[in-house]
Amino acid sequence: MSVRTRFAPSPTGYLHVGGARTALFSWLYARKHGGTFVLRVEDTDRERSTQESINAILEGMAWLGLEYDEGPFYQTHRFERYQEIVQQLLDDGHAYHCYCSKAELDEMREAQRAKGEKPRYDGRCRHRTGPAPEGIPPVVRFKNPGEGAVVIEDMVKGRIVFNNNELDDLIIARSDGVPTYNLTVVVDDWDMKISHVIRGDDHINNTPRQINILKALGAEPPSYAHVPMILGSDGSRLSKRHGAVSVMQYREEGYLPEALINHLVRLGWSHGDQEIFSLDEMIELFDLPAVNNSAASFNAEKLLWFNQHYLQHSPEEHVAHHLSHHFAKHDVDPSTGPDVLKVIESQRERNKTLVEMAERSVFFYREIEGYDEKAVKKHLKPDTIEPLSAFREKLNALDSWEQEPIHHALVSTAEERELNLGKLAQPVRIAVSGGPVSPPIDVTLWLLGRETTLARIDRLLAYIKAKFA
Ligand code: GLU
Ligand code: ZN
Repeated sequence: MSVRTRFAPSPTGYLHVGGARTALFSWLYARKHGGTFVLRVEDTDRERSTQESINAILEGMAWLGLEYDEGPFYQTHRFERYQEIVQQLLDDGHAYHCYCSKAELDEMREAQRAKGEKPRYDGRCRHRTGPAPEGIPPVVRFKNPGEGAVVIEDMVKGRIVFNNNELDDLIIARSDGVPTYNLTVVVDDWDMKISHVIRGDDHINNTPRQINILKALGAEPPSYAHVPMILGSDGSRLSKRHGAVSVMQYREEGYLPEALINHLVRLGWSHGDQEIFSLDEMIELFDLPAVNNSAASFNAEKLLWFNQHYLQHSPEEHVAHHLSHHFAKHDVDPSTGPDVLKVIESQRERNKTLVEMAERSVFFYREIEGYDEKAVKKHLKPDTIEPLSAFREKLNALDSWEQEPIHHALVSTAEERELNLGKLAQPVRIAVSGGPVSPPIDVTLWLLGRETTLARIDRLLAYIKAKFA
């Protein structure tokens, strides 16, 4: 049997990290088995579903690199098919019309509660005889088997048994004809030949109902894997108050997608002590039975640690691709200055996010707008002028503009004056970058080029002179 998995989001918000992890596990499982990954948009709730949210989900998946092989299929395009199946279930005696009014249902539940029973639909319309009551549009209910049990061999949770007498006759089509979630999922999983349903364990209670409907249709139920939810650092369900939960917000905050992917895969899945997994390794090593049975906590520090790792170890071209999004926010076009790959090489060790890296690299591409006040106060003195001017002249006289001679000019200027290197290096940093942080001076100046370097030193010299005049 070929493996076919699906991700089936309801487009009522952005793609959050919980959904992204479900998508990742489904994607990995399909890739691992050379199978097919299907994207299905469960947009039957027309009031809460929005195009904006569909776009956000597609964008999030694209950014994460979770490409799907089929879809997106939209449930709102499949109403005819659902109606056909509802009719088939009615014709075959697996479903029936229920004309109970709200008042009647309330009364029924009240009576059950009074007897100390769990309130549930008692199936009274199964046996309703005579002509249909007039003026009441009926709902359609599925005739759940009254006896026996549904046994699920869940690939994550193990065996789960539901007794049929605990399940009541669920509504599969509302009185306006709109099919309900359990019906549409069943029809879609069947039509789309889904072999493995991988989803959050908040759906576990739906699973026996879905299996019963599949059986009534004569369909073979797929395998199920219910993955535990993701918790926040305090052990409660992950929500906005734990920080970002939208996948795309992590993009804005300067994360590489593989950092998020790596953290997500490690939430609830492990392979020995290994922390870092390339996509290829994940595909090779991932398996559903190895997914942890209990909930895992999202850890922002861990994510940052992964991000640093990938900033340092990914190919520069890859980092450049993602950095460009952040440069754009500063109106920086990296083709207008030093080779961005070399800038990344000089910056990758010292930045935790792409936001930092972009902020701290703007000076390579744009005239600096001013000097950092604290740095000015700390590092610029009247006696900065002489060594800085001398260094400028040495740079001006260099035969070749390379890191080594630049480094030598810096060191010799300081040594000749018995100056601590920082006393010269920090003013140079302020001159070229506006502040006290930059990659090593020699690389920084080399990347900036001689002309820009000299002009910026001249500008700082004038500034110091004016300040202490
Ligand atoms: N649309 C459902 C949700 O977003 C998922 C349904 C499923 O995976 O079976 O929660
Ligand atoms: Zn009824």
